[in-house]
Amino acid sequence: MNPLYFLVAERAYHRCEYCRAPESIFNAVLEVEHIIPVVAGGTSTEENLALACRSCNGFKDSRSSYADPESGQDERLYHPRQDRWEEHFSVGSESCEIVGLTTIGRVTALCLKMNSRSQLTARQFWVQLGLFP
Ligand SMILES: [Zn+2]
Repeated sequence: MNPLYFLVAERAYHRCEYCRAPESIFNAVLEVEHIIPVVAGGTSTEENLALACRSCNGFKDSRSSYADPESGQDERLYHPRQDRWEEHFSVGSESCEIVGLTTIGRVTALCLKMNSRSQLTARQFWVQLGLFP
């Protein structure tokens, strides 16, 4: 386990900092990921670490930007230490989809496949359990 897991998890209220998956529904702790990937010069210090679920971390991989299909430009991904989640995302009350409110939110939701079938199915259960949003 990452030696900074407890600090990162407490700071994130034990939720994925991207899709807001609650850690309590998993049978293992969430992952500590590098916001700016190590291959891009990111450090393993607390300001560059975020708590992420397997799905978000897996799709984010070593990316910190993603091509916006609307502009064709590479846009940076949501940065949990610098950005406020509520400014970039909202959650559809019926669909439980995570909607990008900004370019950053939109490309992040796409890149991390936040509305994949498995993500949506799980999220609907979390809503029923009162664990989301
Ligand atoms: Zn996630």
